[in-house]
Amino acid sequence: MAALVPFSLLRNYSPFMLARPFVVVKACNLNFSKSVVLPLPCRRLPFSTRAAHDEQAAAKAAAATADSGAPTIFDKIINKEIPSSIVYEDEKVLAFRDINPQAPVHVLVIPKLRNGLTELAKAEGRHGEILGQLLYAAKIVAEKEGILDGFRVVINSGPTACQSVYHLHLHVLGGRQMNWPPG
Ligand code: 5GP
Repeated sequence: MAALVPFSLLRNYSPFMLARPFVVVKACNLNFSKSVVLPLPCRRLPFSTRAAHDEQAAAKAAAATADSGAPTIFDKIINKEIPSSIVYEDEKVLAFRDINPQAPVHVLVIPKLRNGLTELAKAEGRHGEILGQLLYAAKIVAEKEGILDGFRVVINSGPTACQSVYHLHLHVLGGRQMNWPPG
């Protein structure tokens, strides 16, 4: 059965998915003095090593074809060739629930037109407008999902950050207490 599941998705089953380098925008009203700091052993358990290796291997494999121009799974979602749970949509932006949520709210926000934005590292001046629209759409999603009091926006850019789909996307995460540092 496991053989039927694409390797790129299997790596998502790691509970340590968020324990990796990424670009993060924190939006939280919590007073720092009230923030929860996990003791070190809770942040990194021994069995995380294998999952992290799988995740890194999948990310490297994805990066190898990142600039091929080939459509990604997100193109199929945009074209409604495969189903997704859409949370917000306008002319330029689509937001849908992540298939492997890492929080009670986990929504991906993507540009409908990739236009060279396979990853944030490829951003140029001409992308300024869509980047702003994506960030604003993330706020709209947070509002719709009722998590405006505290949510996190994550962009994994490149293999070192374990990006697995090369169509720029923002992860909007919320509905539970987030910890810091993320790992
Ligand atoms: P990345 O690892 O590139 O930052 O994030 C890619 C995200 O896309 C992952 O969180 C993964 O769960 C999600 N994803 C991959 N394939 C699909 C899919 O077919 N549908 C949905 N809704 N999400 C997907």
